[in-house]
Order: sequence, then structure tokens, then C-alpha cells
Amino acid sequence: MKLSSGFWQTYKEHPNDATIASHQLMIRAGLIHKSQAGLYNFLPFGLRAVQKVEKIIREEMNKIGAMEVLMSFVTPGELWQESGRWDSMGGQMVRAKDRAGRDICLSPTNEEAITDIFRKTIKSYKQLPVSLYQINIKFRDEIRPRFGIMRAREFIMKDAYSFHENWESLDLVYADFYRAYSNIFDRMGLNFIVVEADAGAMGDGQNKTHEFQVLAKSGEDKVIVCEDCDYAANIEKAVTFRKPLDFDNSGKEIELVETPNMATIEEVSNFLKIKEHQSLKSLAYSGISEDKEEVFLVLLLGDDELNEIKLKNHVGHEHIKPLTENEMMREGLVKGQLGPYNLGKEMRVIFDAAIPLDGSFTTGANKADFHYMNFVPNRDLKGELEVTDLRLSRAGDICKIGDKEGEATLISGIEVGHIFQLGDKYTKALDAKVLDRNGKTIYPLMGCYGIGVTRIVAAAIEQHHDENGIIWPLAIAPFHIHFTSIAKSGEIKELCDEVYEEMNKEFEVLYDDRPKLGPGFKFKDADLLGLPIRVVLGERDYKADGLIEITVRKTGEKRKVSKEDLIPTLRDLLKELA
Ligand code: ATP
Ligand code: MG
Repeated sequence: MKLSSGFWQTYKEHPNDATIASHQLMIRAGLIHKSQAGLYNFLPFGLRAVQKVEKIIREEMNKIGAMEVLMSFVTPGELWQESGRWDSMGGQMVRAKDRAGRDICLSPTNEEAITDIFRKTIKSYKQLPVSLYQINIKFRDEIRPRFGIMRAREFIMKDAYSFHENWESLDLVYADFYRAYSNIFDRMGLNFIVVEADAGAMGDGQNKTHEFQVLAKSGEDKVIVCEDCDYAANIEKAVTFRKPLDFDNSGKEIELVETPNMATIEEVSNFLKIKEHQSLKSLAYSGISEDKEEVFLVLLLGDDELNEIKLKNHVGHEHIKPLTENEMMREGLVKGQLGPYNLGKEMRVIFDAAIPLDGSFTTGANKADFHYMNFVPNRDLKGELEVTDLRLSRAGDICKIGDKEGEATLISGIEVGHIFQLGDKYTKALDAKVLDRNGKTIYPLMGCYGIGVTRIVAAAIEQHHDENGIIWPLAIAPFHIHFTSIAKSGEIKELCDEVYEEMNKEFEVLYDDRPKLGPGFKFKDADLLGLPIRVVLGERDYKADGLIEITVRKTGEKRKVSKEDLIPTLRDLLKELA
């Protein structure tokens, strides 16, 4: 590709809304163009990277026997009404009416659409299992689109769906996708980990789900990992344990103490000279579902934080939220002084599993300026207590896999892929039945498997760049070689053209033959675009020693070679970089 006749513009500055490196570099290197918040146009070099990503994904999907389809981007509202998601998808799904008055929407995901194709096509277990995938646009009207194409509103996703007669078959295909995903991200040169993900309130814990997280400081996902026991889970899902703590098990009488103007655990603990974990943190939440609303009290060790996702999964409501001060007043609850003892009203109380129920704790007394000391849950509350894991995992916790134990670390990641065993949720909702081997009708089980195609490009840059620009992994680089001509004379210009033609036969070469630009400018552009190998040809080296300069972008390593050695050297270097 000759730049003299190409379409490419770089920028020294980045726009104010670009706060992370990949966003800044993608704009500055002329890969994308913003049309509105969360909407981007892909320019020629950005598109080439996206196409490289797509090619690798296609190859690995085809290898495991998944077949490519392309579903309509606009889907009929009635499918979403059938599944019940027309309402529950909320504002992220953009809905419209067509001229005939029918509901339609822009696909945020395609479980309904694929299940509709499936139910109209497949009738027997003999046609199972089947895996279909597409690489297509998705639209999600994200509340806060940000970081360029990392969290866009319109983006490209590879989404795949599989259908099965039984769990055994789903497990096998799930394992195929797991391996294919690992190959895909390996081939792209990404440093990633696979973590357990949150399965929502789904099933009975039978549904496997994993996320593929590219490691990067700017990543929005928090991940708990352990080098000792290999535990790895998204913090939304992670279950880890407190290091041994000293609790008061003396079983003293419960006692009302005055705590004037004290509302926080810290203030009360300092005042009563106890440790924060010897207090209980009481949080009032409401859960809202279509048909009911419920208020409950959540208890945690004083220095623990609530994992709202665990709470939502446990109570099974569509939405949960902490009560506001006004709502607390309406419920007769006293902010800052909440506690499970003498609550003054019937209310569901849920204990976090880290709380020893025979220990003595300080809790709010449900009246201003008072706390109880020596509250013992098992002794002082009637009936069986509701206990479940609700706390947010944190660094330094103990994690366990089987009999292996270790200390948890917290790191940041970018979710580039997600695989999920859906069970029969959608086949049931859309009444997609097949006959099993005994002639009985069953709802097949489904798996779904997503990859953020455009997000990958941003994630790769986030992980591979320096202060001068991008450092593309070879597999997804828009071109392999950036050939910069700094020729002044006609003779060397001709030589450059000849060398370009030669290289272009075998490699993907971007040829900077722009006539009126100086070497400094061209080198800056080359650093910014960050193709894996740079070749420079100009009068000085060539006329003196007949040499052409090669630089490896990643290491900065330079070497000078003769014209004859150029192609074999590039061949070797590209092999090394692959
Ligand atoms: P996130 O938690 O980041 O919002 P998600 O869990 O909602 O993502 P999935 O429904 O699992 O996303 O979609 C599959 C993949 O699509 C994700 O793993 C991610 O790589 C990509 N993706 C999701 N939302 C966006 C977005 N707004 N912009 C770009 N890529 C996205
Ligand atoms: Mg996800």
C-alpha cells in the first residue's frame, strides 16, 4: 500500500474524552473516527486490524465445527416479548416501530433470534449438537460509553450458540469453545487469563461460565487470582475467605450502650475500643420484581463490603437497591443505627457466611445514639438464620481450590470473551422442542459464546504500546512492514520503488513514499502506527555502504543489511515475531 496515494492522517493531540492509551492512540494514529458518543467509524488501517481479528476467529471457530451464519441486525420485537426480555433488557436495547406498526429492535445480543431459527429447523436429537456463529454488529445503548471502541454503543461481536440433547454434550462443546478461545487469544499475542464468571440467578450452579480477561491496568473488570492455588474469578463471582480473626465468644449479656452522634463502624469501634470486624454492618436493601417488592436487612462483618451481585442472585429479584434515607424513614428504620436486634418490624435478615453466629458483636440499636454490645446472632434471634456468601472478595483473602490454599490478589482485566452454559432458558421460553432418543419431547440445552471483536483491537493496544505509539502484535497488525523512503534523488527514489515491489510480493507492506514530508515526521508516524518492523532507505546509508536499515518496533533493535539480504532477514524476523 503506497501512502502517496493513500488515505491516512495522524494527529499530535488526542481529544479530551480519550483518557486511556488505546483510545488516544487509535485516534492519533488515524485508525478510528468518532461520529458520536460510543459510535465510531473504522478507517482503513483500523479496519485492517479488525479484519485480522475476524480471520483468526473464523479459523478457530471453523476448526471446532461451528458454522457461520449472518443474522439480521434488526430483530422482531415479538421474539423478545416471547422470551420476556422486551422489558427486562431496559434502556440498553433500542426499540422502534416499523411502518406497519410492528415492534423491532437493534440487536444487543441474539439468543432469541438464533433460537427462532433453531426451532423452525431442527426437530430431532439426531440433528444435535449444532454450533452456529456470526460476526456482526451489536448495538447496546450503554449508559456511559467510554474508552473509544472498548465500551462503544455500536460494536462488532462474534457470537456463537450451541444446542444439545443433554449436559454431557453441552460440556463437550463448551470445552471445545474454551480451547478455541484460548487459541484465538494466544494467536493474537494477548496476555490473558480465564476466570470464573457470574452466572446470575441461573440454575442450580450447574451452568459453567468463564470470561477471558486481557490483563491491563486500565481494565474495568476486577479479577481475583491466586498463584498458589490457581483460583481465578471475576470479583462479581469470587468466593474467598477471611484470614483467621479474633472474635469474642464469651457470650456476655447483651447490653445497650450510648454512642452519641456516631454512625459509622469506624466511629463506634474507636469509641467502644473494639476491632471493626467485631461490629456488624447492617444494610437495608429493597428487591423489586415484576410482581413484588421486598425490604431486607443484610449483615456483614464491620470491615467487609457487600457484593451486590451475590445479593441479587441470592434474593432472585430483577433489581435490588439500597434504601434511601427517605425510604428508611418510611420503613421506620433509623439510618446509621440499623441492627438485626429489636428491629421493631418483621423483616427478612440475611447474614454473610463469614459471620460466626455464636460470636458477640456490636450492632446498631435501631434508635438514635445507641448501639447494642454482645449481640450473639444464634442466641438473640429466633428461628433458623438465613446465611449465604455475600461479601466482596479482596486482596489478601484466603482462596481455596480442593485442598490447595493461597492468598488472593486483585488485578484488572478487559473482558474480551465470555462463554456461558445457558441451559434450557431460551429453548423453554421460545418453546423450541425436539424429540429425544426415546421419542419424548425435550427442550434442548444451549451454550452461548461471545467475543468482543472490536474491543480486542483496543485491548491489544492497551497491552502493547509505549510513549511513542502502538506496538502491534504481528498477528493483528494492519501491515507487517512500515517501509519509509527518505530518498531525495530520483535514483534512490526509483530504488525505493523497486525494493517496495520486491517486499510487497511476500509481505504486507505499508510504503511511506509521501513526497513532501521530512524523515523526522515520517519516523514519528511510523512509531505512532507501530507496525512490527520498520525498513528505512535513504541516500546516506545506501550511497555510503549499500545498506538498508531495519528496526524492530517492539525491541528497538536495529540492523543494517544489503539489498540482497533484505528479504531473507525480514523473513527471519517475521518468523521470530510470530
Ligand atoms: P461488559 O461486562 O464489558 O459490559 P458484557 O458481559 O455485557 O460486557 P457480553 O454480553 O458477555 O458482554 O458480550 C460478549 C463480549 O462482547 C464481551 O465479552 C465483550 O468483549 C464484548 N462487549 C460487550 N459490550 C461491549 C461494548 N459496549 N463495546 C465493545 N465490546 C463489548
Ligand atoms: Mg460478559
